[in-house]
Amino acid sequence: MKADAGGARRGRLTTPHGAIETPVFMPVGTQAAVKGLRHEALEELGARIILGNTYHLYLRPGHELIRKLGGLHKFMSWDRAILTDSGGYQVFSLSELRKITNEGVRFRSHLDGSEHLLTPEKAAEIQLALGADIAMVLDECIETPSPREIAQAAVKRTTAWAKRARAFFLQQALRNGELSQWQFGIVQGATFTDLRRESTQQLLEIDFSGYAVGGLAVGEPHAVTCEMAAVATELLPREKPRYLMGVGRPEQLADYVALGIDMMDCVLPTRAARHACVYTSEGRVIIKNARYAQDQRPLDPVCSCSVCKRYTRAYLRHLFAAGELTAAILATHHNIHFYLDFMRQIREAIEFGNLAKFSSEVQARYAAGPA
Ligand SMILES: [Zn+2]
Repeated sequence: MKADAGGARRGRLTTPHGAIETPVFMPVGTQAAVKGLRHEALEELGARIILGNTYHLYLRPGHELIRKLGGLHKFMSWDRAILTDSGGYQVFSLSELRKITNEGVRFRSHLDGSEHLLTPEKAAEIQLALGADIAMVLDECIETPSPREIAQAAVKRTTAWAKRARAFFLQQALRNGELSQWQFGIVQGATFTDLRRESTQQLLEIDFSGYAVGGLAVGEPHAVTCEMAAVATELLPREKPRYLMGVGRPEQLADYVALGIDMMDCVLPTRAARHACVYTSEGRVIIKNARYAQDQRPLDPVCSCSVCKRYTRAYLRHLFAAGELTAAILATHHNIHFYLDFMRQIREAIEFGNLAKFSSEVQARYAAGPA
């Protein structure tokens, strides 16, 4: 890792499925697919790592089936890196009748109502079976805002679960003679500075391959997200990767990078695309708006993606109005291109030592909005 004066770092993660230049944005492929994009398109766009979702893949089609079919990479025909989350966030947000004990979290499937127990060991086992390049530990996710006692108890449980998850993961990996998979711990602590610090220190003692900061960007102000992330990055070792989970908006990405964050993920570029919202160099464009009905320009005049090279705003607006599938596919392609190209510009700015200037220019353009 190479750091510049502001805390931003350029680095490279080497996984069994290729090297990843950091800081990196990871498109989300919840159910072994990035919604609206073929893998050929993701490769063309330069995606080196995508996310898979443990909760969804465990419930359907099942990790044992995926293991039998040669692991997630082979199953979905994706040769580049995959990070899987622990499933915790979805258990806490999607499932019914969840009950948390020290053992784990008991829940009913949102698909068929069947009952399941997700423990730290089970979450690790599923991710080992999937063959994720980077696996996440099970953490306790709480509502935001939550009272301090709740946040404190969640930190305590998250640390206890992290210890068990690490022990299980290392034991299984040694047994399989397969130490190439990485496991990351997740810092919790809601919006309490001292709890964030405590959580970070406790995870450092367990010694993970990398560290994530979780439970943020869930409704608190951006400045608070940054403050909490900074508490963690100040304590985390320089030589290990740091992942801020579930962020963010384009105009915020450089702020996180400036705090020393290396990895980010968010459903925003794909989800927004399906709702006719595209990100451009000048800000958000709601392409459904009537003002674009006769607009012959591409989505973003300075974008080099294959959608902008070929199609007009007027055509995209028509496709959305007509409810054509192609609308979502084209908008998603552009948005993922925008995010990945934006990260390339951030990496370049770090190398030239002008990330702060780059960031303030982007924020000014986004505040002004598209012409
Ligand atoms: Zn484009």
